[in-house]
Amino acid sequence: MSSANFHEVPVVDVTRDNIVEIWPSLQFSLQQAMFVALDLEMSGIGNRKTLMAKSIDDRYRGLCETARTRSILSIGLSCFCHNTSSDTENISDANLALKFTVHTYNITVLCEDNYTVEPLSLTFLVEHGFDFNKQYMKGVYYHREDKAEKKKDTSKPCLRRLFQQLITNEVPIVFHNALVDLVFLYQNLYTQLPANLSQFTADLSEMFPSGIYDTKFVTEFMERTPASYLEYIFRKRQKDNLEQCLMKEKHILIDFPKYPASCDYVEQRGCSLDSEQNQNVKLCECFSNHGWCALGKNCPNSHDVDAILRKEDVALVNKQRKRNRRKRARPGSESTIGECATVEERVASVTVNDNSNNAGLTGDCSQESSDIDIPQNGEQVQSNVVTKSRCEGHRAGFDAFMTGFTMGTFIAKYGKSVSDNPIKLSDFGIQELVNRIYLSGKDYALQIKKSDFSKPSKGHRIKIQMLKGEIT
Ligand SMILES: [Zn+2]
Repeated sequence: MSSANFHEVPVVDVTRDNIVEIWPSLQFSLQQAMFVALDLEMSGIGNRKTLMAKSIDDRYRGLCETARTRSILSIGLSCFCHNTSSDTENISDANLALKFTVHTYNITVLCEDNYTVEPLSLTFLVEHGFDFNKQYMKGVYYHREDKAEKKKDTSKPCLRRLFQQLITNEVPIVFHNALVDLVFLYQNLYTQLPANLSQFTADLSEMFPSGIYDTKFVTEFMERTPASYLEYIFRKRQKDNLEQCLMKEKHILIDFPKYPASCDYVEQRGCSLDSEQNQNVKLCECFSNHGWCALGKNCPNSHDVDAILRKEDVALVNKQRKRNRRKRARPGSESTIGECATVEERVASVTVNDNSNNAGLTGDCSQESSDIDIPQNGEQVQSNVVTKSRCEGHRAGFDAFMTGFTMGTFIAKYGKSVSDNPIKLSDFGIQELVNRIYLSGKDYALQIKKSDFSKPSKGHRIKIQMLKGEIT
């Protein structure tokens, strides 16, 4: 059943051992998807100076060098398939809720060419649960140079083919902070990166004609939230989406495929909204703002994103109360908190009061909407597979899901013309979100487009012609 309040996200764990078995369903998910969210883990991302170089062209050249020498360690794909509203009893609800069935895959990969590893990146990954034994034992192989290309054996699963399918299917792709991932995908699974950035963006505009979306761009330039790292914006959108569902405003509902109990490669990732609420934790300021802290697990302060969001909610409520007090003080004003509270204030109050015996958000929800399934107090979720907590493991698959979910809520929020039967992402009227890539520390976005003075690169021309030829 579709739900705005999901407690677990199934992630299909793809390795060398099971890729042949999973390949057909992976291809089917890609074909059905309205958009595909992607996330990569790499063996390093180069030095910070290069990433933050003042000139965008220098930044691109530095990134190219990094992508040529480092490798991809895992690829997350989350395929969001739009459900048409045939199963909705109520037509007015159908106009409010966008429904998606979501298939998420985490592919552990292993580059067969020599590559550079950055100790700091690896330490970070290990601390976040990345399993290097598994990567070397079971990672799906790939080569940077396309050695198998001439053989054209299209029946065998292969990472390059997977990437080519994203291109030939003309499916919109979504990232959170797209630039680094795009450069790595191009160099590792497509062809040699072009010499300059304008060629790179021209190539991308031909490779992905249905558009590239960057949820970090939307977060920074349209949401303008205090922070914009993935887990922060995901939790915020997850909470807001549930609240919008309660208020009968535009929201999204998520459904997951039912995997048979015998599928031992499906891992459930916990992401319940009704977590333990400790109001008195001291928050790590660095993590609150950037989603990153040099002390990692040794930090004495809390890195809990939910606690960070709660603190913001409390601050918002206090601000609203002050404003209301001032209003009431004005002669002739009739407003009271109870009567005239804004939607945001009502929501914020609910959230703040949420720590009292689990009422609040989730409690209200069960009374007001039949679309939301709430586990009863003390009810154990039955599952044959291990459920890992949201914080455990910095896994590409779950990150891709968080990115896709965030994108889904942006479609509901910013979509202007939800046509009666939207088939493509472009039917939603979200032109201001497409082909704009976030650039760290810049007040403008990188546009993915061809320009009069930049032609696509030769390497890409050859490649795309071959791909287009292959599908006819
Ligand atoms: Zn910290």
